[in-house]
Amino acid sequence: MSFKKHVFFVSRQCYWGVEPEDQNVVEVAQGGLDYSNADMIVASYPGEGEEYIGMVAAVTAAIKIAALWRAESNHTIQVATGNTGGNTIPFEGQPDTDKLLEEAREFDENLPHCPQCAEIGELIWFHELSEDERFCSENCSNLSLEWYQKENAVSRVEEAMAENGVDDRDLILIARMQPDEYYSQPEDERSDWLIRDVLSWHGLDELIKEIEDTGK
Ligand SMILES: [Zn+2]
Repeated sequence: MSFKKHVFFVSRQCYWGVEPEDQNVVEVAQGGLDYSNADMIVASYPGEGEEYIGMVAAVTAAIKIAALWRAESNHTIQVATGNTGGNTIPFEGQPDTDKLLEEAREFDENLPHCPQCAEIGELIWFHELSEDERFCSENCSNLSLEWYQKENAVSRVEEAMAENGVDDRDLILIARMQPDEYYSQPEDERSDWLIRDVLSWHGLDELIKEIEDTGK
């Protein structure tokens, strides 16, 4: 079994060998199902018996379940966090749920986030230009690759323009674009906008060749 520190399993438990007021807890087990205590009560409230990505989601669900259970049973019900390490061990109840949520928020903030969508999760996807970056999904990896490819293309065009003494106005001619379109853009965004737009019409190599021909 593999321990995933960002995965939490929420269950209701009635512990043995503890004080009566510590007996009934909604347990938030870090690492997932394998790290929760084995004798969970049969799930009957929404969100119970499920794994959550991130501690805030799990603690929020646990607090709701505890409120429902408390209202129905009239027992002391606490929310408890921990992990069994694969064994059996009662978790300590945390009566201050605001504090618990605050800790959960802090915990989640310190987890690695997907550089594309900022979500937490299992960051295992990568692409040929991502170097150390790891993403939450194939989709995020693809979006990032697209972004890198575009940025690289823009750099290549800018370099070719600088080397060949081609300015924005020449580039408009290369693209055979209506200059009105270009001048309707905000001044500081024109160059970037133009290059991106030109790239969507032409192949990159073709464009660079045209820049070189124009510069001669
Ligand atoms: Zn993502």
